[in-house]
Amino acid sequence: MIYKSSYPDVPLSVEPVHETILTSVRDVAKRQPNKPAFINAFDRSESISYSQLLTVIDSIVTFLHQRDFTKQTAAVVMSNCWQWAAFYLAVMKRGGAASGASALFTDYELERQFMDSRASLVITQEETLDKVMIAAAKCPLIKTIIVVRKKGSTKALPANIFTWDFVVNTPAQSCLKDVVVDLDKDIMLLPYSSGTTGSPKGVMISHRNFGTMLQIYAIHNRTRLMTVLDPKWDDEKENYNLFLPFYHIFGFAIMVSTLYYKATGIIHSHFDPDVFCKAIQDFKIRSISLVPPILVFMGKHPTAGKYDLSSLKMILSGAAPAGKDICEEVQRRFPHVKYIVQGYGMTEISLASHFPDLTKKQKFGATGHLTANNEMKIVDPVTGKICNTGERGELLIKGPTVMMGYLGREQATKETIQNGWLHTGDIGYVDEEGNLYIVDRLKELIKVKGLQVPPAELEDLLLSHPKIRDCAVIGIPDKRSGELPRAYVVRDDETLTQQDVADFVKDRVSSYKQLKGGVEFIDEIPKSAAGKILRRFLRDRAANKSKI
Ligand code: AMP
Repeated sequence: MIYKSSYPDVPLSVEPVHETILTSVRDVAKRQPNKPAFINAFDRSESISYSQLLTVIDSIVTFLHQRDFTKQTAAVVMSNCWQWAAFYLAVMKRGGAASGASALFTDYELERQFMDSRASLVITQEETLDKVMIAAAKCPLIKTIIVVRKKGSTKALPANIFTWDFVVNTPAQSCLKDVVVDLDKDIMLLPYSSGTTGSPKGVMISHRNFGTMLQIYAIHNRTRLMTVLDPKWDDEKENYNLFLPFYHIFGFAIMVSTLYYKATGIIHSHFDPDVFCKAIQDFKIRSISLVPPILVFMGKHPTAGKYDLSSLKMILSGAAPAGKDICEEVQRRFPHVKYIVQGYGMTEISLASHFPDLTKKQKFGATGHLTANNEMKIVDPVTGKICNTGERGELLIKGPTVMMGYLGREQATKETIQNGWLHTGDIGYVDEEGNLYIVDRLKELIKVKGLQVPPAELEDLLLSHPKIRDCAVIGIPDKRSGELPRAYVVRDDETLTQQDVADFVKDRVSSYKQLKGGVEFIDEIPKSAAGKILRRFLRDRAANKSKI
């Protein structure tokens, strides 16, 4: 059957996303100019108020205008920091899009994203400047590099680099109007995702996609999450722990909605157990969104028991499966947490299609209910037949937040969105009460700590090694990280060792993509008649081996 959301439709967004966010920012700046929009969790003396944020954005907009930056893509290679948000809002006011990349990426990974996203500008931090420059030197479209310096740093910088201080000291031209955007055609965000197959692709998210997502998210939050926790819930009084990376849609959406809700974001450049717990304790954080490895941390790590986390009332997990056992463990350890729930989403859906509904009975393992404006069906991946309630199949989603497509990849877009239905590549079923359960993955994707590791990217890299004839990469289950990548390699030369293979990958990709699940030599990669890698066969082989 085709399921329709049981919630009333939310009106589609009718303004650019920056306008929605800045309306909130201006309102707080007027009433409480000194209210912090963001506070650095590691150095609390560093914060930015709502009114300062507006001033900084005006200067960045002028700087971008002076460099003819209009409707282009800016690559953002920074760990979480308030500058990420300020810069991004300015980019949108110039009609442009941000394409976030991990600060952990190597120059090899950065170059691929810079080229593919057609970025004309990069903003980075001093710590990552060297690799950004190596990558940018190979990308002819990149004209401008901006660097946010370390506090107190006096290190000399190359002449062609603009410092953040220079940018935000640009005298703002108050007469500058926002660049007019087409809500359905202009890209406002270009995150990277491998989708159901292949290497990372630029996911084109429009203003209408994300703006509508924000409305759905806000209404759902208010009516079915927060007011259930506390009838007097007031978004504006909340503090949110922003530790999920902003370059990923999950972390990005929480950062943006912090401003939209007129709240305060406690920004974590990286995850540190003590800093994370201390922020919950000191800022009395009540609701937290996280990925399953952090849930494992909360359930098992001694640090999580050292702090007073009694303010926490709700934990929302997403981006990967959260098992029933770990949810129960966290519940036992922190009985004051009333709800430990999951949402389900995908970069290609501009965040999520399923959110938990606290007005309904909670079931561990369920990933929520279909949100407003969406339709879903579960389809047998072999026969294409639409499944009934309780039957397992591939999850397909249709709705206004489904991406415009993949940048420059018409074929991949056509394969992923058919007649308006987005093929998620996830296997799941729906129960009688409308709860979705994700039970398996049809697609190749590996998720390490909630982050994407596309096997095709590692396979491409391995095949560039002169002593490797063929290879396949799969994810093997891991208690802490969810999954770890393992490579099966056919050697062309017997002198090649497993360590050589692991080191080759280690030198080229970020740490979470490394072959920490091991390297195994094999005579032949199992393939279908059409030449497709039979990953299921390799997964079974790995599972059988681990039983021995
Ligand atoms: P991303 O685009 O990086 O957010 O990855 C999306 C993928 O993460 C989905 O297609 C799922 O495979 C997985 N995912 C997201 N949320 C959940 C969840 N609650 N349970 C299981 N898998 C999930």
